[in-house]
Amino acid sequence: MSNLFKFPIRGGFVSKSRLEVVSFVFVLFVIHFVGWFYCYHLLPYVFPGQHWTNSVGLSIHYFLGLFSYFNIMTNIWMLLITDTTSGSYLLPAIQKPKWFFCGTCIINSPPRAYHCEFCDRCVLKRDHHCVFLGICIGHSNFRYFLMLVFHAWAACFYLSLLNIPYTLKLLGGFSFTYMFSVMIPLLSWIFGVLQATYVVASFATGICSLICVVMFLCLLFHCRNIYNGQTTYERRCTNREYDLGWKRNVLEVLGYNFYLVWVFPLIPSPLPGNGIDFVTKASLEATKTM
Ligand SMILES: [Zn+2]
Ligand SMILES: [Zn+2]
Repeated sequence: MSNLFKFPIRGGFVSKSRLEVVSFVFVLFVIHFVGWFYCYHLLPYVFPGQHWTNSVGLSIHYFLGLFSYFNIMTNIWMLLITDTTSGSYLLPAIQKPKWFFCGTCIINSPPRAYHCEFCDRCVLKRDHHCVFLGICIGHSNFRYFLMLVFHAWAACFYLSLLNIPYTLKLLGGFSFTYMFSVMIPLLSWIFGVLQATYVVASFATGICSLICVVMFLCLLFHCRNIYNGQTTYERRCTNREYDLGWKRNVLEVLGYNFYLVWVFPLIPSPLPGNGIDFVTKASLEATKTM
C-alpha cells in the first residue's frame, strides 16, 4: 500500500494511505451527520414544541447524546495519539527466547508484538490494524478501541430505537418501499421512490442500524478474545498461552480501573503489564503450586 499523507501524531509523522484518509473522513462525517440529525430532526419530532430548558425528558436525551459524542470523539483522539510501539522502552540487543528480530525496524521485538505492514513499525501485543481509523490496535490502546466500539454500538442502538418509528411514519409504514429506501436511500431518490426530503431520514436510519449490528458483532468478537486472554492473531492460531483467567485477562486489557473506563477515556486506568514482559498461564500455575 502506498503511503501518501503524513500526519503529526504520536510524537512523529505517521504516514497514511489515500484509502485510510478517505475512510477516516467518512467516519467523522457519519458521526457529525448522525449528531446533527438527532438534534435537529429526531428530538424535535419526539418532543414537539418543547425546549430543553423546560423539559426533563428532552434534557436527558440531549445529555445522553453529548455523553456518547464526547466519549466517541475522545476515544478516537486517544487512539490517534497513543504510542503502540516500543518507542519509550530500551530493548535488549541480545535476542531472548520467544523474541524475534524485525529486519525493518532493526530491533529485537518482544513476544506478542508484530510488524504492521500498514504502519510500517512493530506494535506491542498487536491485535489488528483498524482500516477505518488507519491505526494499529495493541497493548496500550486496546481500552480506547473497545470503548469506542461499545459507545458506537450503544449510541446506534439507542438512535435506531428512536429512528425507526420516525422513519416508518415518514414513509407511511413498513413495506418494500421502506426497506428499499432505508437500505439504498440515494438510489430510492434517483428512481423516484423517495422524496429528497426523506433521503436524510432514510440514510440516518440505514447507517445507524448497520453500525449497530456491525459494532455488536465486533464487541462480541473482542469480548470473547479478552475473556480467553487472546489477541485476534492468537485466536486464529488457537494460542491460549496467555490465558490467566477471565478476571486477570480483563485487567490486562482495561487496567485496574476497568469498571470506570466506559465513563470517559481520560480517566486513568493503569495496565498491570508493560507490553514487553508477559505472564504466561504456565508460569502463573507454577507459582501457585510452589
Ligand atoms: Zn518491525
Ligand atoms: Zn498498523
